[in-house]
Amino acid sequence: MGHIKGLKCRECSREYPVAPIYVCEFCFGPLEVSYDYKSISKAISRKKIEQRPQNLWRYREFLPIDGEPQVGLSSGYTPLLKADNLAKAIGATELYIKDDTVVHPTLSFKDRVVAIALTKAKEFGFDTVACASTGNLAHSVSAQGAKAGFKRFIFIPASLETSKITASLVFEPNLIAIDGNYDEVNRLCSEVANKYKWAFVNINIRPFYAEGSKTLGFEIIEQLGWKAPDNVVVPCASGSLLTKIWKSFKEFKDTGIIKELHTKVFAAQATGCSPIVAAIKNGTDIIRPVKPDTIAKSLAIGNPADGFYATQVVKETEGYGEDVSDQEIIDSIKLLAKTEGIFAETAGGVTLAATIKLIEKGKIKPDESIVICITGNGLKTQEALQGHTISPHYIKPSLASFEEALKNIKG
Ligand SMILES: *Cc1c(COP(=O)(O)O)cnc(C)c1O
Repeated sequence: MGHIKGLKCRECSREYPVAPIYVCEFCFGPLEVSYDYKSISKAISRKKIEQRPQNLWRYREFLPIDGEPQVGLSSGYTPLLKADNLAKAIGATELYIKDDTVVHPTLSFKDRVVAIALTKAKEFGFDTVACASTGNLAHSVSAQGAKAGFKRFIFIPASLETSKITASLVFEPNLIAIDGNYDEVNRLCSEVANKYKWAFVNINIRPFYAEGSKTLGFEIIEQLGWKAPDNVVVPCASGSLLTKIWKSFKEFKDTGIIKELHTKVFAAQATGCSPIVAAIKNGTDIIRPVKPDTIAKSLAIGNPADGFYATQVVKETEGYGEDVSDQEIIDSIKLLAKTEGIFAETAGGVTLAATIKLIEKGKIKPDESIVICITGNGLKTQEALQGHTISPHYIKPSLASFEEALKNIKG
């Protein structure tokens, strides 16, 4: 029933059958899922999608599974909110927030990729799943893997936010906290993945896992009334989400779901870890790896696997990239909260702060439609705001004490 043709090398186009593999044996290029778009066009329509349950499986013809969905039945179809208060504050006119801080069981967009990865791991017959994570993936694989009945090995940098570590530990996976940064964690995981027959969601299952990010793009188009936006701003860690949002837009165009596509795609990173944005700004597609140093830990990948492909998408769509300081991240988290009532994690602060700069620099035209992808909930990175919020008014439990405090309260 699936529409998958197989796996295909992104570099040399060599084809492979569907299997838990991820690199081309001939040129070492990354493998990607390829589909039979003719048969998808015949099988799918706007109406058919609209009649389905509001979760990420409503786009299942475009997802690399063969049987029924097993995981993530309550993930996806997050709100697309028209953000008029924020638009006014930053000089935009038609601004939307794709709000992945809510709906998902572990409150970040990673539930999208994990839904597909774990469903595929079941199809392949694995009993153990694993991942190398900057935090949100750890949380999602721990939780969804518990529900799906997998043994779980979760590898993280030991320096992650304690709230993300606790949020993973409650599901009792085997959590391996490594004295090193994400890139070192990932390198170790590649070695482990070679030796142990586990489904590493972002290593040997990566071609399938990454396809889950497309659902965010499909939803944007459907929720805009079957229209692609003029501009979309995407936070980048490995760069995968950015490339897959663009892939989803092109797939809707190629299968006739939408008629026109002129979207510009923009990359957002923290200055303390901006290898993709640095390449974009330098007009090169060579990614120089960096040592991450930023509060945006969920985006702290110094050697991004899909960095090159992200720069290609930005170039192809005539987008751009922007990087922002830790202070700008905090200011933007607070601006989003005050104007739209949304509490985003540090990655959300990165995306908004980058959007503000892109408008200021004229890279995004303020009279065009803009969608910004807010990918994780602020309750997961509360540490980042410690010492940066206003303070409570401390009083005694008496009316007199309250009224004394009230004298100092303006609004
Ligand atoms: C993982 C993550 C991203 C982007 O990840 P890519 O590796 O670029 O696909 C964005 N936001 C949050 C909150 C994330 O956890």
